Order: sequence, then structure tokens, then C-alpha cells
Amino acid sequence: MKKISLIFLLTLPWACSAAGIQINGVRTWQAPDNTRVVFDISSKSADYKLFRLANPPRLVIDFKNTRLTGKVLKPADSDVILKNIRSAARPNNGLRVVLDLHDQTKFKSFLLKPYKQYGHRLVVDLLHGESLQTNHQMVPKVAKNRPLNTTPKQAVKARSQPRVAKARDLVIAIDAGHGGEDPGAHGPGGTNEKDVVFAIAKKLAALIEKEKGMRPLMIRDGDYYLSLRQRTQKARDNRADMFISIHADAFRDKRVYGTSVYILSENGATSEAARWLAEKENASDLIGGVSLDDKDNMLARVLLDLSQTATKQASYEAGRELLQELRPLGKLHKKEVQQAAFAVLKSPDIPSVLVETAFISNPSEEKKLRSNKHQTVLARALLKGVREYFIKNAPPGTLYAMKSREHVISSGDTLSEIAQRYHVSIASIRSENKLSGDNVRVGQVLKIPAFGDS
Ligand SMILES: [Zn+2]
Repeated sequence: MKKISLIFLLTLPWACSAAGIQINGVRTWQAPDNTRVVFDISSKSADYKLFRLANPPRLVIDFKNTRLTGKVLKPADSDVILKNIRSAARPNNGLRVVLDLHDQTKFKSFLLKPYKQYGHRLVVDLLHGESLQTNHQMVPKVAKNRPLNTTPKQAVKARSQPRVAKARDLVIAIDAGHGGEDPGAHGPGGTNEKDVVFAIAKKLAALIEKEKGMRPLMIRDGDYYLSLRQRTQKARDNRADMFISIHADAFRDKRVYGTSVYILSENGATSEAARWLAEKENASDLIGGVSLDDKDNMLARVLLDLSQTATKQASYEAGRELLQELRPLGKLHKKEVQQAAFAVLKSPDIPSVLVETAFISNPSEEKKLRSNKHQTVLARALLKGVREYFIKNAPPGTLYAMKSREHVISSGDTLSEIAQRYHVSIASIRSENKLSGDNVRVGQVLKIPAFGDS
């Protein structure tokens, strides 16, 4: 009896290895701050060890009980950290994968659960600019464009002091949804959401580039994944004045079609406020130019509420302008601005909107989304909406705020309502147009003074 159980124990590991893990493919994605290497694995767990080797710099991944059955895609020539990927079988059903590097670097590895067309994955992120030789110290992101001897707090004070500055451009953050490992929704013809929304985003950026007083900020400018937090963070780091996230919708019923525009819902805003307050101790982030980290909870809560309320109102107005311009392109899916708890809309101080341009699951809308012409039409409509919003709401100090604006009186318009809409005083409109009373007539063209003049 004893002998039999011993044999059984000895053979058990062999039974396991026969069922071993397969790697069905290896691909890479280059983002601005990391290179992501993704292994498609046949099991929800993998037995592996990661370690560095020097001369030349390499990162080695030793898998136990693993076979490579799929293709290993070469990294891009432009990759700043990853040179090549090699693999070789090892004794006892092992597999060694070697990442040849330009330089030793910090790395992270983690497992990803199945999502859409992907199964289980092992991810290895090689962090750019984290070279181990240079004893590199992490510099907080907010401190990027500032002399290194200023602390974030000093810089905040400097910023909140009045200063005579040259009028600046509005920064419009354009967020093409998904990317890299995350393809987004699929069309029946095989179109990936991440590709069409990126094409539209690029066209919008090109238009904004040409617009006097505006500057585009592409949140992702290639086919790689950014977390939703990284997206809002990039907008904050660059002091964006507006955040537009571009997506395409999908539904199981292929007949559903049309455009919708979303802003953050009340629930989303409340949970986000809780997160900001929870993190304020170590946050040097700003709410409308005010740092939360030195405020007590009550005051921080009030400041946050004020900022969120103003931002929500601004987001809603921006959303309405966008819908207005998108309306003529085809039918809207939702006629009013919608609200949802999209994480990417959660900046408490940047007006943020998410545009579901069309239903990629609808065959004819999928075709439109792929067409160069329709992408341009969409981008133009979005530009118009952004322009309309800022004509009425440009922040002081921006070139846009100083643009002379005109308002054509339509029936029902009153001076006080017009003044409110453009955020200027009634008196300033009167003096700009040499009006003595409040009388205006339909068709009359009023000059709207710049914001600083009121
Ligand atoms: Zn999407």
C-alpha cells in the first residue's frame, strides 16, 4: 500500500505539467511613459519569475509548465526601451522569455481577467524614464514645468496672485476613448471603436490647432491604453479648459442609432467628492486654483461642492452646445444632455463631456464612422460646439475672452438676459453700443464687450 501511494505522489506533478499553460500570443504597446508587453495565457494563473540580467540589459521571465504556441510580435522600431523579444524552451517544460532592453528599467507585472475578445493575460509594463543607473528621483507630475526648488504649495500661491499675463490660448483636451489592449466596442463589419474615435479625435485636434485662441491636447496620441485616471490627470497637468471624450456606442439591437452627449451624474460626482476628500492629505491637486490639502474637512467639502456645482453647470452648457451642432448630422439618440457616472468625466474643476458619436453596432452608422468624410463632419460639428460654448464662457485671461463678439437680437431677447448669457454687465453692453435705455429691436446687432471690460 505504501509503495503505491508513493508512486502516485511522484507521478502527480507530471500529470499537472501535461495540462500545462499555453502562451497563445505576445504583443506590445508603446505608450508615452511605458511599454506594455502582453502575454495571452490559457489559464487564470501563471507560475513565473521575473528578474533582470545585465550586459546587455535584459528582463527575463521564466515560466514553469508553459509552452509558447502563438506568435511573438516584434516591438516597434521606435520603442524607447524594448529592443527585442526572444524565447526558448527550458528543461522540465519551462519557457524562458527574454526582453532585450535599451537600458535597465523599473517594471510592473500583473494578471488581467478576460475582457471582450481577450482571454486571461499576463502584463509586463516597462516604465520609460525610470532608468536604474541614474538614481532617478520621482518628481511629482504637477511640478513639471516649474523650477525644482519651488514646492507645489509655493507655486500655488504664486499662481493665485494677480499678475499681468499675456492672454493665453484655451486648452481643449481631446480624449479618444479606449486604445491598445482595450479596443472598445465592435461593429458588425469588424470596426474597432478605438480606431474610429482616434481618427475623429485627430481631425478635431487639427481643426482646433488652426483656431485662433485655442490649442488641442490629445490625451492619447497613439494606439495604447491609458487608465481613466491617467486621462483626467493629463488634462489637469496641462490645465485644460475643457475635456471632450470621444466614443462610439453599441447595443445588442443593431437597429439602434444616433448620437448622445453625456456629463457626470450626481451620484458620480458625490462618490468622486468622497474620494478627493479621502485623498486630500497627500494631494497637492487643485480645485479651481485652491489647494485642498491644508483645509479642514468641512471647508474642503464646501470648496469642492462649489467647484463641482460650477463645473457641472459648465459641462451641461458645453454639452448642450455640442448637441446643438451634432443635431443636423443625423438623428440624435437622446435629445437632451444625458448624465452617467463615467469616471473619465470626474474632474471636479474641468468642464467635461463625453460624446457617443454614433452606434458602431448599427451597420450603416459603422460605415459612416469609418468614412473620412463623416469623421471630418463630426469633428467640425464638435469644433463649432466648443467655439459656441467659449464665445459665451471663455475664462478671463484667455485670448478668446478678448475676442469681440456680436449678438443678433431675436424676438424675446432682453438686455439683462443677454448680459447674463455672455457674463458681462448690462452697463458695459450699453456703453459699448451707445445705448441709452433698454430698448433693442429684432435683427439689431449688438457688440458684446470682452470679459475684462465689464
Ligand atoms: Zn467607448
